[in-house]
Amino acid sequence: MERLPYSQWYDTFNRFAGDLYPGRYTREYTASLVCAARQISELAESKQSLIVAHNYQFPELQEVAAEVGDSLGLSRYVAEQTSPRVDFCGVWFMGETAKTIVGERSKVYMPDKPGCSLVESIDHARVRAWKQKFADGIVISYVNTDAATKALSDYICTSRNAAQVLDHAAGQNPGRRILFLPDKFLGSVSIAQSNVVDPSLVDLYDGCCHVHAKIGESALEEAFERHPEAELLIHPECGCASHCMSKVMQGNSPYQKAFFLSTEGMIRHAEQSQADEFIVGTEMGMVYRLRRQIPGKTFHPVSADAVCEYMKMNTLEKLLDSLERDQIEVTIEAETARKAQLAIDRMLSIQ
Ligand code: SF4
Repeated sequence: MERLPYSQWYDTFNRFAGDLYPGRYTREYTASLVCAARQISELAESKQSLIVAHNYQFPELQEVAAEVGDSLGLSRYVAEQTSPRVDFCGVWFMGETAKTIVGERSKVYMPDKPGCSLVESIDHARVRAWKQKFADGIVISYVNTDAATKALSDYICTSRNAAQVLDHAAGQNPGRRILFLPDKFLGSVSIAQSNVVDPSLVDLYDGCCHVHAKIGESALEEAFERHPEAELLIHPECGCASHCMSKVMQGNSPYQKAFFLSTEGMIRHAEQSQADEFIVGTEMGMVYRLRRQIPGKTFHPVSADAVCEYMKMNTLEKLLDSLERDQIEVTIEAETARKAQLAIDRMLSIQ
């Protein structure tokens, strides 16, 4: 995404995000954001910092970042860079992943320390008990997990490559049980999208993300009623995902116009689709990115509730503070980092 000139922040934020965050972008507040952004830019340059932001961050954080993306895209991007400092705007576990990847080469800082309901649904003791029961079992965990869970895992995946990782793990380890965690919705959609020969060998952990779980079937039905011509771009972590997929497979209208996509997949699909109008079935921040990157098409949030309060704990003001005071630094215990790195490396090597 090309950097937006500061002179266009007020108009662009109100045009593309006015309905997403009503009342947020007043002239006065936007002017204060521009002022903070100028200081951030100077500090980032002098401290040789690489600022990266997840798609669910506020527009102003997306605009000051060198790269905006999903967890896999940001992991790959950070892995390729050599800057001595990374300022990561996302949830804490993503910062941990970045730190695991860059190791001692770079310091990683975050503006705040946001948790994540999906990660908090993981009980490490339960995962260890499963590993004891199935000694040759394979654990696949979502990239949005803490370093301790990654260290218990054989493979890491994202929503973009989950089916691919499942295929790879099942193909390399025929007949062995697989535990997929923590998101049960992502797990069931990934099994349906994969070529796994025996799905009964895959155990799904009973976790979910509260934001995506809230986007249930009724929210989709209402969105289709409001925008009957639109295609639905749906994130596989949505609570309705497996139900929605069964309707797609049965050919039910209007679900033939539903596409299960990671956040990067949404961008590619919307750019290439013949359709001009889309309902976005994931967190609100993604709607801003789609509108900004593809201004000729129309994007509607699936529901006004699709906001992750963890992601929104990061603000431009906190990022400035973090750059000024060199905090909050992400650190990981060496042995946990070493084990987590093995699982992450396997993910990054699967194309
Ligand atoms: S939307 Fe928020 S709660 Fe859900 S997985 Fe992402 S960071 Fe976690």
